[in-house]
Amino acid sequence: MSSIYERACSICGDTEEMARLERCPICSKLFCPDCAYKASGRRFCTGNCARTYSYGDSDEDDENPDYDD
Ligand SMILES: [Zn+2]
Ligand SMILES: [Zn+2]
Repeated sequence: MSSIYERACSICGDTEEMARLERCPICSKLFCPDCAYKASGRRFCTGNCARTYSYGDSDEDDENPDYDD
């Protein structure tokens, strides 16, 4: 079984051997720590995905009984 699917940062192209890649929770693209866009305590591939994430989040009701106080 050969891995045709090369895992690399979708922004700069760094491979897994060059950087510790993470997967974007929004679009599932891979990105390296250098390219990561940090927002809301999470990391995304781009600011676009970070906005998508926070829009999706604020769409829901803010009522959360388990919210930290
Ligand atoms: Zn990168
Ligand atoms: Zn993304």
